[in-house]
Amino acid sequence: MTSVAENNVLTTKLQEVVAWGRKYSLWPMPFGTACCAIEFMGAVSSVFDISRFGAELVRFSPRQSDLMLVLGTINYKQAPILKKIYAQMCEPKWVVAVGACASCGGFYDNYAVVQGIDEIIPVDVFVSGCPPRPEQILLAIIKIQEKLEKQARGEVAVDKPKAQVHAD
Ligand code: SF4
Repeated sequence: MTSVAENNVLTTKLQEVVAWGRKYSLWPMPFGTACCAIEFMGAVSSVFDISRFGAELVRFSPRQSDLMLVLGTINYKQAPILKKIYAQMCEPKWVVAVGACASCGGFYDNYAVVQGIDEIIPVDVFVSGCPPRPEQILLAIIKIQEKLEKQARGEVAVDKPKAQVHAD
């Protein structure tokens, strides 16, 4: 009886279970405004298969999402909308700025375009590229997973330090 118990019982800490659960059940919400949104469609397709990372349940409601992916150009008219939708997401939540436009305005260096969404909301991971490849979006998901695992374990504070995913 003792050996059966030894072979079938797994002991762990509560925060480890929470971290594991969160890591593989991200519910992404695409905030797509331009061409980078098409790359996200590639990332969720069967070829790149975002479900390998447990993030295939794409939601279009901020109430049901914990990961916002901003995909495209954000102008100042859209900025209050983005800010409001971010505020509607429950904690804990994470944000990825996908592509040059969302990260820094891209080549739209003009009066109308926000020069990086971190002017408006906290960003956890920036993905470079115009557009980035789907693999880079998947790498951003992995970086979010690593971060939330550390946060759930209490190894890092739930703040917003920045990570970058470059094209190479
Ligand atoms: S970074 Fe490039 S591909 Fe992405 S939205 Fe901007 S212009 Fe389009």
